[in-house]
Amino acid sequence: MLPTAVRDYISAHDQDFIARLLTFLRFPSIANIAAASDGSDACIDCANWLQQQLASLGFDAAVVDNPGGKPNVIAHWHHHAHAPTVMLYGHYDVQPPEPLAPWLNPPFQPQIRDGNIYARGANDNKGQFFAHLMAVEAWLKGHGELPVNITIFAEGEEEIGSPQLETFIRTHAQLLQADICLISDSEFFAADCPSITYSLRGLAYIELTLTGARADAHSGIHGGALQNPINALACMIAGMHDANGAVTLEGFYDDVLPLDENERRAWQSLPFSLPDYAASLGVPCLSGGEHKYSVLERRWARPTLDCNGIIGGYTEAGSKTIIPASATAKISMRLVAHQDPARQVAAFRRYVETHTPAGFTADIQVFSTANPLFVDPDSPLIQAAARAYVTGFAKSPSLIRCGASIPVAETMQRLLKLQPVLMGLGLPDDNLHSPNEKFSLQQLRNGAVTIAAMLTEIADGTP
Ligand SMILES: [Zn+2]
Repeated sequence: MLPTAVRDYISAHDQDFIARLLTFLRFPSIANIAAASDGSDACIDCANWLQQQLASLGFDAAVVDNPGGKPNVIAHWHHHAHAPTVMLYGHYDVQPPEPLAPWLNPPFQPQIRDGNIYARGANDNKGQFFAHLMAVEAWLKGHGELPVNITIFAEGEEEIGSPQLETFIRTHAQLLQADICLISDSEFFAADCPSITYSLRGLAYIELTLTGARADAHSGIHGGALQNPINALACMIAGMHDANGAVTLEGFYDDVLPLDENERRAWQSLPFSLPDYAASLGVPCLSGGEHKYSVLERRWARPTLDCNGIIGGYTEAGSKTIIPASATAKISMRLVAHQDPARQVAAFRRYVETHTPAGFTADIQVFSTANPLFVDPDSPLIQAAARAYVTGFAKSPSLIRCGASIPVAETMQRLLKLQPVLMGLGLPDDNLHSPNEKFSLQQLRNGAVTIAAMLTEIADGTP
């Protein structure tokens, strides 16, 4: 049970918490903006502010250098000899705010309207992460101590793809040891539909180039004799799916964890309207992916292969009659539990080897890979999180998957052996990465209670 004093502290200090979140949001902490010529850097200022906040609560807190990048903040409150250690992860960096014209208030001058805070980072991730800080403060000041050991890890480069996170975690593994990691960087399935995301898709991103002639050639003189790499590449891409929308790469589905009957049934009861979803994307129907699966299954539980861009030949205004020398396609595969990106890249290479027509050379570049994440939805830890949502939002959460990737969750699981729990607090219309990003104050308040309650659940011995 969450002590009443903890919950009371959150409501009694509402205005003070909001004021501090507004301060947090005023730092234009964009990770890919270099320090100014005078050395000033909004990311460093923001990291220092966070460190001071945590130190003032009694945490052993430090801004830790991340060579070549923005620093990370690590803070410890480890005063129980036998309690589990919970890591609270968030990121203090934000997306660039551009374009500025559609914003109703300047993105780094937060404004409260209709029960929402509007600012860049209001949801992603400062607002959601601040709910964690409210929870630990409420325990410490309302109750006198935390029920578990806490490690706080605030990252400074999430929005640019965490380029150095693996190295950082390996270097500081000792400081980051924990049993469980709570991450609030996802959202409710719908307003009033609290959700725990227990699985994320992984990724393999590949660039394929076909090269034919030495140079672009005259299409009148050589057309009919000279093979065209754009035509050939288009055929190869088309051949990667069959008529039912399934990917044809050999072995592509071998390791896919089949969808559980319980999952299928649970998803059928989600407040999801296919026509509304299609309309939100501006299309009359949704014909992508494997036809025999439902849309949610195709988005969450099935792997995909998509061409993201094609480059080749003459693309300027007007006409130029050539057979191009080369053509390139950018191709991404979204992978699900328990697929291994390396195996899928190998399958892609075999496909290219066997399908490249005579007269071309094929070159494959692998840009990035990320493993899928899966946490057993029936595990005690997920059940504990579900009870915490009932405490915070007075409603049982839905258990959902998500088609996107939050690589940090899988990285923590793999490198630090801790169990990640994605306790999203955002709403689907929060305009992440877009103008007029917002976060609901009620989500903030209930989210803080939920995280505070989750710490009780963990202390009570669930996992
Ligand atoms: Zn983001």
